[in-house]
Amino acid sequence: MTTNSFFSAGSAVAVLTTEPMGRLLDYRAPESGVDLGAFVKVPLGPRQVLAVVWGKGQGGFDPSKMRAITAVLDVPPMREEMVEFLTRAADYTVTPLAMMLRLATRAPRLLDPPSARKVLRLSEIRPERLTDARKLVIAFLQDHGDMRFGPHELAEFSGVSVGVVSGLEKQGVLLREDAPRDLPYPRLDPDFPGKTLSETQKSAAIELRQSVALGKYSTTLLKGVTGSGKTEVYLEAVAEVLAQTRQGLVLLPEIALTVDFLDRLETRFGQRPAEWHSGASQVERRRCWKAVATGDAQLVVGARSALFLPYQNLGLIVVDEEHDGSYKQSEGVHYHARDMAVLRASISGAAVVLASATPSLESWANAEAGKYTRIDLPERFGTAKLPDMAAIDMRSEPLETNRWISPSLLAEMQQTLEKGEQSLLFINRRGYAPLTLCRACGEQIGCDHCDARMVEHRFQNRLMCHQCGATKPMPEACPSCEVVGKLAVIGPGVERLAEEVTALFPDARVAILSSDLADSARGLKEMIDNIAAGGADIVIGTQLVAKGHNFPHLTLVGVIDADLGLQGGDLRAAEKSFQLIRQVAGRAGRAEKPGRALLQTHQPDHPVIQAILSGNEEDFWRTEAEARRRAGSPPYGRMAGVILSGPDEAAVFGAARELARNWGALDAINAQLFGPAAAPVARIRGRYRVRLLVKAPKGARIQDALRAWVAPMKLPYNMRIQLDIDPQSFF
Ligand code: ADP
Ligand code: ZN
Repeated sequence: MTTNSFFSAGSAVAVLTTEPMGRLLDYRAPESGVDLGAFVKVPLGPRQVLAVVWGKGQGGFDPSKMRAITAVLDVPPMREEMVEFLTRAADYTVTPLAMMLRLATRAPRLLDPPSARKVLRLSEIRPERLTDARKLVIAFLQDHGDMRFGPHELAEFSGVSVGVVSGLEKQGVLLREDAPRDLPYPRLDPDFPGKTLSETQKSAAIELRQSVALGKYSTTLLKGVTGSGKTEVYLEAVAEVLAQTRQGLVLLPEIALTVDFLDRLETRFGQRPAEWHSGASQVERRRCWKAVATGDAQLVVGARSALFLPYQNLGLIVVDEEHDGSYKQSEGVHYHARDMAVLRASISGAAVVLASATPSLESWANAEAGKYTRIDLPERFGTAKLPDMAAIDMRSEPLETNRWISPSLLAEMQQTLEKGEQSLLFINRRGYAPLTLCRACGEQIGCDHCDARMVEHRFQNRLMCHQCGATKPMPEACPSCEVVGKLAVIGPGVERLAEEVTALFPDARVAILSSDLADSARGLKEMIDNIAAGGADIVIGTQLVAKGHNFPHLTLVGVIDADLGLQGGDLRAAEKSFQLIRQVAGRAGRAEKPGRALLQTHQPDHPVIQAILSGNEEDFWRTEAEARRRAGSPPYGRMAGVILSGPDEAAVFGAARELARNWGALDAINAQLFGPAAAPVARIRGRYRVRLLVKAPKGARIQDALRAWVAPMKLPYNMRIQLDIDPQSFF
């Protein structure tokens, strides 16, 4: 951007739109003039689109043909640090700026004129008789400002009846006026009393508060076992940012967790913060976006895209469960929220807290290298102890066909049930069975649009594709050989395991916790609350159970197939498996009762299983780090994935091979190129996918090389190329 920050009427300005134009467009500033960074509405062809004033007009064409900006939106201009953030994020992820702007303006109906609502304002007149109730109303408005509250809100917030408010209005003490529609957020109170922290928690909290109070960039890895009070501790950092009157952001990996978390915040700060996630209503998201832009929202709790909100004064970003895979966005702009949080904070002078019981290797290594401060909470809070862990060697456990619970695990479940405590069986597979096979011809029923098998969901009585979500009814006859009655289901999913459990424990209350079995975030929360309250004896869950829920009655965790995540050639297979199983095992024994975690495995000597059992986490990370260092893999080397896709398989392979032949730009940074090869999921939604993988030394400018490599490539209109910097998985 230029240094000039105001453009007078009629001057030419360059705007960035959210349309894929690949360049800035010139428009004429309106009568009122316009600020640099202003959000505006501009005509583009027959439409009106959202844009941001990016700088001085570039000129170079007939000024009389230049169209004028239609309207300037009633929100503060984009700040320079946001411009820098979007520019650097676009650069890092090799994404067009227009797409970054789209990500940053994903609030519904921002272009609509602000609709008005009636609010009340104090006049000069004071009531004849100053009752206590009337005093409350007047004091409330004096404290919180005029022009924000309608009669009902005013009554509610000042704790009086609506009659009191209308009485004041009749006397002319309150005047009714028009104000913008979006409601203000109630104020959070950082001095509201929190829990009394233990000594370890207290010193961690003090350290975090100091990092916020310094008012400059820092990143702290808060590593604490499940139940150690990480959340209580980082809420102190939130209290500090509120006290500094800067804005805070807490990122959560799963919408299902937000409801619980908001309750917790309300207990801690007296009110609920702003919410930003796909489960929030349109009105709520627009309100959030605007309140963040004006600085009215003190705290946002949200999903990864909350990083792209237009904060006025961001002082803290917490990334909870920072190792969670869902922080990587793998559609549209491929970005990792953890990395973007650090980038954003470094530009805004904010503190970052990365919280996890099982950090990502990246964060662990950054702490080792001294780039991040690390704080450990090694003990569970109170009397709760970490669970005992043991392996069940499945090579010596007899199992009947289509049974997955070993005799050893069964015996433990029996005892747990008799003691009136809760068991959890973990299997990371949704649905009934992962595979439906025809015993007559061997056909595996697949998705019509993807190269993926269909998964039977017996409760819905349908087959579902977990790639694209397509469903179809369970056929009577094999779609290939048309023989009837020979279709068989292979392997367990949560639903099928539940069937086995019900047969073994007919009198037990069995609950299934799987994201597809609840119809909403609220429904899921009800299921979780019910389990936490002791409403189930045996819980069967997918990886959803690994994420931060407290189940005080749970004392036994059984991992049905601990080997599942160890298969597959994924770079992060060991790390992910380690994190997931430790997290799940950590669910046991949170309250006064000690817990036990049992891992069914065919490879009890596998280093990952051994690391989980021994609890020697540092050893695990050191070994894993060493292996990656030797291989030059992330975080000790750079990687980028390239996926070409299109409807014609041969054409896609042809384009990929051509790309591979012209790899001079990559050679220049000493990169290695792997592929082309069919992607592990070779077809999604009817598009064939071919993958190339680039691996470069740590310091290499991999983005520049990728741009130089891909730019000359001319692709037909129906083919797409996607770049994925730091890919998390290779599907
Ligand atoms: P983590 O985030 O590390 O899993 P939490 O912060 O959720 O841990 O704490 C686990 C449980 O222990 C929660 O129910 C929490 O309210 C409780 N807890 C933690 N610290 C304290 C404390 N100092 N006083 C009272 N309860 C606490
Ligand atoms: Zn599909």
